Amino acid sequence: MNKSARLQYLHAMGIDVWIPRATSLCDQVLPETAEHALVNEGFAAKATESGKITNSVENNDIINQNIVKKWQELENAVAACQQCSLCQTRTQTVFGSGNKNAEWMLVGEAPGQNEDQEGLPFVGRAGQLLTEMIRALGMARDDVFIANILKCRPPNNRDPKPEEVASCSAYLKQQIAMVQPKIILAVGRVAAQNLLQTDASLSQLRGKVHYFDKVPVIVIYHPAYLLRSLLEKRKAWQDLQKALKFFRSEEN
Ligand code: URA
Repeated sequence: MNKSARLQYLHAMGIDVWIPRATSLCDQVLPETAEHALVNEGFAAKATESGKITNSVENNDIINQNIVKKWQELENAVAACQQCSLCQTRTQTVFGSGNKNAEWMLVGEAPGQNEDQEGLPFVGRAGQLLTEMIRALGMARDDVFIANILKCRPPNNRDPKPEEVASCSAYLKQQIAMVQPKIILAVGRVAAQNLLQTDASLSQLRGKVHYFDKVPVIVIYHPAYLLRSLLEKRKAWQDLQKALKFFRSEEN
């Protein structure tokens, strides 16, 4: 079992895990081109005397180990985070889950009660509907990477405060830089507004292609909203189709 999974299970079992405190946020955050930097690191280690670079199995192992290490460092930093007051009320942090090499990344708002208890994003009723929405795109949940704007649950599921978003944004930025998705789905108004730094309404934002650090972003309805407004499901379906069409057109 890898370290990340072990930590998650220990958390879930209520067993305290001592994690070294990160010295500063700067230490926790990797360069934007993290994966490229890591690739260079691996290659540099294997440069031959003639200066020629060889791409051996050994090199790939080094690269993979470095990537795993960087993910572990980031996950540890999130687990130990005390940058805002939500650390006092959370049960545990919700780092995100899924395929770390995913082409599709989904970004929600913040953990709710179920997520706070389980340590995983979108596991409640809204999560089940989100899983169905992912299936409608022709994928399984494990094919995509799912994260949130906030890694900790705001009490009573209130909207995130700007200072909480500001404290947490480096983590999400880093996750996006490491996954390097081809497309991001911003799940719901709060995720979209914070990701795209805008006050525009969801109806203004949906149906268009936006960008976050050059990655295309499509805004979709939050499944919790769809559970309350069944009539909007048709529009939600249209949004998913639009995202799929855009993704396929970009692939060619
Ligand atoms: N709503 C979100 O936006 N994210 C979750 O993880 C769960 C519910």
